[in-house]
Amino acid sequence: MSDRSLLVLPGDGIGPEVMAEVLRIVEWFRDRRNLDFEVSEDLVGGCAYDMHGTPLADATMAKAQEVDAVLLGAVGGPKYDALDFSVKPERGLLRLRKEMDLFANLRPAQCFDALADFSSLKREVVAGLDIMIVRELTSGVYFGEPRGIFEEGGERVGLNTQRYTESEIARVARAAFELARRRGNRVCSMEKANVMESGVLWRDVVQEVHDADYADVELSHMYADAGAMQLTRWPRQFDVIVTDNLFGDLLSDLAAMLTGSLGMLPSASLGAPMANGRPRALYEPVHGSAPDIAGQGKANPCACILSFAMALRYSFDERAEADRLERAVESVLAKGIRSADLLNVQGATPASTQAMGDAVIEELDASL
Ligand code: NAD
Repeated sequence: MSDRSLLVLPGDGIGPEVMAEVLRIVEWFRDRRNLDFEVSEDLVGGCAYDMHGTPLADATMAKAQEVDAVLLGAVGGPKYDALDFSVKPERGLLRLRKEMDLFANLRPAQCFDALADFSSLKREVVAGLDIMIVRELTSGVYFGEPRGIFEEGGERVGLNTQRYTESEIARVARAAFELARRRGNRVCSMEKANVMESGVLWRDVVQEVHDADYADVELSHMYADAGAMQLTRWPRQFDVIVTDNLFGDLLSDLAAMLTGSLGMLPSASLGAPMANGRPRALYEPVHGSAPDIAGQGKANPCACILSFAMALRYSFDERAEADRLERAVESVLAKGIRSADLLNVQGATPASTQAMGDAVIEELDASL
């Protein structure tokens, strides 16, 4: 086996279209930078249901546990909307996250200069923005028990439980501090310690982990509602934000929109280190399967390409090569080569998915 193994799961809709461009880029790194990746490909989501009657076959799950990194395109589509909840395409993705125990979700919000005008905020507020939101992904109110809708006193009561253990908080805090050391060396932890006991514990544990092992990293604490305000008022004050599952869900979507298009947003979900020291890892664009444009060559492959850049950085520790790929994407945009979602000029000709891939590869060639 190669020293670097990838399981590629293109999925449904535009997933296979954007992943095709990523696979060309993986080839480029193999041919031109001597980074040998052993790539296997499999099914997830609706296409896996069509083939196996389940959105993620056991054999695919087993493969995902063996490789260094999983690259996923997108899942879902109208064809599968009426399926039973237990076999919906998204269940395939949830199974991967759960069984790989991917507890830290990394969502960068980076505003490329060429796209600053796509933000709903003013250019001067977002230009040069580069923040990372680390969201706890496997615990908290989305998983806490008891939960359900009950009858009580003659009416229905909806109940969910926000629950965090010290170890769950400590491991995601560590992930955030480690990341900060590779970036701007600052972490802001967000919770609601003013009104929630789980928030009080969150704040205490993050501070304890910091004081014991990461005193060199600058740590601040903020209530999550104030954090939402600060993210829209002055987002560049942040470097790494660490927060729980619920607040992270909201804050990462808010931060994403600071940067413009869904077609530009990558993500990583990381778990505990494997025997070879690399973390269990799943990389995927934030967007879905975009059935409205699937099969038309209109999809922007950048989110998926930038997800592979995250794999280079976080799974394979190839930081210079990750920088090279991110710079190539930035240069393509700066030259005005854009897919339809990034065009705000009437009459301009959008680049196809493949043309975007060609342009990124040209920039990679030029970087040598
Ligand atoms: P979506 O992200 O698929 O699309 C939202 C809008 O953004 C659409 O207009 C789409 O054309 C556009 N868009 C998205 N990605 C783009 C890209 N790379 N380039 C250009 N335009 C892009 O969200 P949706 O429409 O709410 O959901 C569609 C399907 O995807 C549903 O079945 C949903 O369940 C699924 N979904 C999957 C994931 C995932 O796989 N992680 C995430 C979200 C939604």
